[in-house]
Amino acid sequence: MSVRFDVITLFPELFAPFQTVGVTRRAFESKAVDVRLWQLRDHAEGVYRRVDDRPFGGGPGMVMLVEPLVRALAAIRADQVSTGAPKLPVIMFSPAGKPLTQARVQALSQSPGAVLLCGRYEGVDQRFIDAHVDEEVSMGDYVLSGGELPALALIDAVTRLQPGVLHDAASHEQDSFSDGLLDCPHYSRPEVLTLPDGESVGVPPVLMSGHHAQIARWRREQQLAITARRRPDLIEAARSRGELSKQDEHFLSNLGL
Ligand code: SAM
Repeated sequence: MSVRFDVITLFPELFAPFQTVGVTRRAFESKAVDVRLWQLRDHAEGVYRRVDDRPFGGGPGMVMLVEPLVRALAAIRADQVSTGAPKLPVIMFSPAGKPLTQARVQALSQSPGAVLLCGRYEGVDQRFIDAHVDEEVSMGDYVLSGGELPALALIDAVTRLQPGVLHDAASHEQDSFSDGLLDCPHYSRPEVLTLPDGESVGVPPVLMSGHHAQIARWRREQQLAITARRRPDLIEAARSRGELSKQDEHFLSNLGL
């Protein structure tokens, strides 16, 4: 099953280079992830093809107009019907949305996809949001100039979960958040690194032991320690889901945090 994203944007050119590089490229080439770009201005009327206007009530900035958005969405719906795609939910990017999580990304990666609305200016006329937007998604507590980078981030996160995109299927299973915790540290060659001041830095000996159970336990404990120090909220969430073993709890209590 492929995942389809219909992206409404004023800057479709931002998406093209992204689809030609990295591990995700194959997913786009094979249409495992089908990204369709919809230039909002193509659905605006008049000589100037306006997509924005001043806010009622005054104040700075411009507001994205309802009517071009309605026409763009109608064109997407018609295309979805003609290609046999289901009616996909509309996700709008907004700092006021729910922060995107790996759990939401995983759910989207197993869904037929979504319409992604990239805001610009001060945002979108609320009447369009009330009538047509199913979900508002935030990238975090900061303000970007548009929803294109959030859309690219969401598409990338979903794409790398598609079967066959990552060379090692287990790779994303040990990523941060997949098991509710942050990732453990990683090491590779050389086994001993010589710093400019002559100091030698090795790697944790357990990683060279060849003892898989001990390595797995060390990694789990590193994950627990990093998560407890940096994101205690994630430890609490994992605990409340019953995902911490007795051994995990013993390790955490010895950390003395
Ligand atoms: N006036 C808006 C506010 O204060 O919340 C900010 C508008 S911002 C300049 C323009 C567009 O960028 C938004 O409509 C949204 O689509 C996108 N955007 C900006 N920051 C974002 C964030 N943290 N998460 C998701 N989308 C964001």
